[in-house]
Amino acid sequence: MVTTRHPTYDQTRRSLDGEETTCEATVSASLAAIERRKGLNAFLTVFAERALERARMVDRKRAEGRAGRLAGMIVAVKDALCMRNERVTCASRILENFVSPYDATAVERLEREDAVLIGKTNLDEFAMGSSTENSAFGPVRNPVDESRVPGGSSGGSCVAVAAGMAHTALGTDTGGSIRQPASFCGIVGLKPTYGRVSRYGLVALSSSFDQIGPFANSVADAARVLQVIAGHDPRDATSAHVPVPEYADSITGDVRGVRVGLPREAFAAGLHADVRAAVVRVADLLRDAGAEILDVTLPHSAYTISTYYILMTAEASSNLARYDGARYGYRAEGARDLTEMYVRSRSEGFGPEVKRRIMLGTYVLSAGYYDAYYLKAQKVRRLIQNDFFDALRRVDCLLLPTAPTTAFTMGEKIDDPLAMYLSDVYTVSANLAGVPAISVPCGTDREGLPIGAQIIGKQFDEPTLFRVADTVERLVMQ
Ligand code: GLN
Repeated sequence: MVTTRHPTYDQTRRSLDGEETTCEATVSASLAAIERRKGLNAFLTVFAERALERARMVDRKRAEGRAGRLAGMIVAVKDALCMRNERVTCASRILENFVSPYDATAVERLEREDAVLIGKTNLDEFAMGSSTENSAFGPVRNPVDESRVPGGSSGGSCVAVAAGMAHTALGTDTGGSIRQPASFCGIVGLKPTYGRVSRYGLVALSSSFDQIGPFANSVADAARVLQVIAGHDPRDATSAHVPVPEYADSITGDVRGVRVGLPREAFAAGLHADVRAAVVRVADLLRDAGAEILDVTLPHSAYTISTYYILMTAEASSNLARYDGARYGYRAEGARDLTEMYVRSRSEGFGPEVKRRIMLGTYVLSAGYYDAYYLKAQKVRRLIQNDFFDALRRVDCLLLPTAPTTAFTMGEKIDDPLAMYLSDVYTVSANLAGVPAISVPCGTDREGLPIGAQIIGKQFDEPTLFRVADTVERLVMQ
């Protein structure tokens, strides 16, 4: 079992500032790490030349004293985000050779601050999954124990950070795809408030849930990335016109007086005993540090999985209708007419989980069933959202597990979609409610596998998440 902690960007930054290393040397080390642990299958594309060239440019800018805020930060990008003139596959055959004509806003903002993008990472096809076994380009392995899954769907981005191939990475979180892998691999993962980060240039999965967010080896690094990628973007109508605070200011190490709620429903049956013990210990540590721990309730918790999987499949089936063989990516050869071309391109281009969700989504949206499923799920979504708003009026944030178990073994759940969906039981609710949530490592189980504690906050109150999560990070490490 490997449990090494890799340098945070803050540490590299100090070495860069102290002239102990260069950005070019850091990038070379990162490329070597990618090569050494190729078997993890974290990357779909590696930009060796481009990254080295950028690194040399950043070194020159540093020498001239005009380098950006993220100078020398090595970042991996989930292959669902567009980068100009690079492939964007979404780990699907249907987009296998599609090259993006433009940059996603989040990517553009990182580069503007002199972060170095190292490559595009593997994922569950179209971000559908919780284990990164659904990729058309092979599964990703957990660096802590290679017989286990890294979680999903942003498994490649998570592993890039957890295995020291990048300081940070961008993932996307529609129902837990940043937080759950972060928890399985022992790193930090943040899903910002819906609308906090522009989704321009992100291939849409479920548009009312999707958010882009960072993976990092420390809460402070995650905050640095959010600082740069957050904020309104005229090219994404759902990005919010809410000012971006100075996140570093919230990392004070002081949680005195912060009210932390423990949702009763999140500690019920089905929770791994070691996960429960680790999260309860976090509550005790926070109490000792001066936070106030209160019991809260989220009465509609039992409906989160069914509500999420109705709404996300409905939205996904609509978003994925655009892949018809005519406009993007893969087209089946030799079809006799247009309908056959559509049918064959989609049948050959999509993998089984994507097909399952398109069928589910089409079903819940179909005329006879719309009211019974889609419409009803929308109403339940509002009830779930209200649960969060009510609880978060009494407390400043919620503390609960990120996932009910630690990393499961490869193949364990792949033939049982329901079991796979249930691993999202603690993460989907933050997406349904549109609130921000962070997963921070808080220990290991009896087998040495990482456990994540999840902190959920009020809309746009990422500062409280950073403040509490950073304190957890310090307390747990002691
Ligand atoms: N595991 C969840 C799903 O399969 C979440 C996916 C995601 O956040 N992209 O829908």
